[in-house]
Amino acid sequence: DMTQKKKLIAGNWKMNGSLQANAALLQALRDGLGEAACAVAVAVPAPYLAQVQGLVAGSAIALAAQDVSQHESGAFTGEVSAAMLRDFGTRYVLVGHSERRQYHGETDAVVAAKAQRALAAGITPIVCVGETLAEREAGQTEAVVKRQLAAVVQSNGQCISEIVVAYEPVWAIGTGRTATPEQAQQVHAVLRAQLAAATERADRVSLLYGGSMNAANAAQLLAQPDIDGGLVGGASLKAADFLQIIAAAH
Ligand code: PGA
Repeated sequence: DMTQKKKLIAGNWKMNGSLQANAALLQALRDGLGEAACAVAVAVPAPYLAQVQGLVAGSAIALAAQDVSQHESGAFTGEVSAAMLRDFGTRYVLVGHSERRQYHGETDAVVAAKAQRALAAGITPIVCVGETLAEREAGQTEAVVKRQLAAVVQSNGQCISEIVVAYEPVWAIGTGRTATPEQAQQVHAVLRAQLAAATERADRVSLLYGGSMNAANAAQLLAQPDIDGGLVGGASLKAADFLQIIAAAH
């Protein structure tokens, strides 16, 4: 197969932004984007979905959310459903980000249910997996990411080729300490093999790397054979940095 799949660079704004800051950031991204060779998305806080839907309209930037409820609708105060995200043209949603797993007790089963809700609503879940520093030092990296992905594979059957996976070592998130391209590639190869055991279309699944990706290290990471893009936190809040990462993805 000679057709190269497009790389995907997704920004994760986390709990940052304001009406004013979002407008300035998106304007700068639109002005600087030109003919981006890769797919681009921004994962914004839920209150800004409507605003950002308007700001990215007619551009190559796709709208993403940072979380979705595992429930369809009803008495779940504070939750946001997949159908609601769909109403605002949301194309991707992060599920199982390590900050959700750590601070909100999200289990592998909850993450799998969220991925299912997203797929059922026609939204691509970006399933986040990754080991802590203690797990890496104990030699458990592969076992941890395989367990996290297995839950999603098991509950999503044939749809599994429709997901995106983001490998984000917890020790690399927001720390300025990036996995080396070799460390990342090694885990990505494990994830690719796990997907290949579940679907004939594993090569079509985008595997993103996340964790202190920046303008200086992006090109080397993205050059690895199984790294199909990036999930970018801190560096996605500065237009110049995010644009440089996008430029490195071709
Ligand atoms: P970072 O965050 O790029 O700031 O390390 C990545 C993420 O948490 O998705």
